[in-house]
Amino acid sequence: AKVLVTGANGYLATWVVKKYLEAGYSVRGTVRSLSKSAFLVDKFANYGDRFELVVVEDITKDGAFDEAVRGVDVIAHTASPFHYRSNNPDDLIIPAVRGTTSILNSALKHGSNVKRVVLTSSVVAIFDLTSLPRIFNESDWNDASVEAVKTKGSAVSPYTIYQASKTLAEKAAWQFVAAHKSEISWDLVAINPPWIFGPSLSPAPTVDDINTSQREIYDTLTGARTGAQLRGEGTWVHVAVVAEAHVRATHAVAAGGQRILVTSGPFFYQDFLDLAAELGIPNVSRGEPGSTKGLPFAITLETKKAEEVLGLMPATPLKDVLAESVEDFKARGYA
Ligand code: NDP
Repeated sequence: AKVLVTGANGYLATWVVKKYLEAGYSVRGTVRSLSKSAFLVDKFANYGDRFELVVVEDITKDGAFDEAVRGVDVIAHTASPFHYRSNNPDDLIIPAVRGTTSILNSALKHGSNVKRVVLTSSVVAIFDLTSLPRIFNESDWNDASVEAVKTKGSAVSPYTIYQASKTLAEKAAWQFVAAHKSEISWDLVAINPPWIFGPSLSPAPTVDDINTSQREIYDTLTGARTGAQLRGEGTWVHVAVVAEAHVRATHAVAAGGQRILVTSGPFFYQDFLDLAAELGIPNVSRGEPGSTKGLPFAITLETKKAEEVLGLMPATPLKDVLAESVEDFKARGYA
């Protein structure tokens, strides 16, 4: 079977491509620039013609994916902006939403072989940080972020803009499926990961080139967070697990029509610094050692569905993924 992976050069997508190839699928990756993505051709050279790249320059254009979807059995749509550099909601929301509807339209019109679409959504499309502490599951939606952008526009934080972009994109996908139920030969699965950590397979010559979630670890280690920020919490999952979740979501029959949270567990930012000390990693910030020991987490994410539907129990220790990330930063020569 052949899978179309959008944004194939991205941090997560490179792992998704790798996992699909290892599972025996053929992969067609879409990228915005071939020159920037040449590393993929080298990396997956031993898969021969099971791996190919096509250019889709502007994913927001109608028909952008018309050619790319021809002949594929599965679509994994990962391409979406993930950064906190813009105060303009359109910068994130337009590519997130139109990129999603554009590929689904192309699948409707030209994807006669497509059986399943796997959408890389996010936990930020699920949790609503205005009502904590809480347990969240796949029936929850982060409507608060959408409402905030609607009422406050560019006065909201870039974090809220990103949350709204993912919420609106995933909603657009489910609405598309509902509206075209009788015309489509495929079903939809949304994978909803929290912070994705672990080594990158992409070249990132400087620390400014790494993706947002890896940067989160780097910044914490280098002292960007202090005081109350160190007691801030997050939830994380290993990049290899999220990639594997995409592959399993492709062939698990019961995944059709589901949103699936894929998460390893919660953390406090101080944990990275305490674990870095335990691992003996030199030249990193120490923060306020032990200050989060025993503190309760405000956000709990249910993991039942990932276990039941995908057979995933991704309970990797944070310490291991931290060690892997630090190794990766070191190999890249980051200070
Ligand atoms: P990266 O920034 O590494 O990759 C993003 C990919 O999307 C790249 O291929 C990028 O292309 C493409 N892209 C970004 N903006 C646009 C745009 N305007 N038009 C076309 N393509 C675009 O991000 P990640 O790998 O971290 O994220 C991948 C997916 O996973 C996203 O959907 C993200 O929301 C989701 N996700 C990520 C999490 C994380 O912690 N990393 C957590 C939960 C969900 P180019 O290189 O050309 O810019």
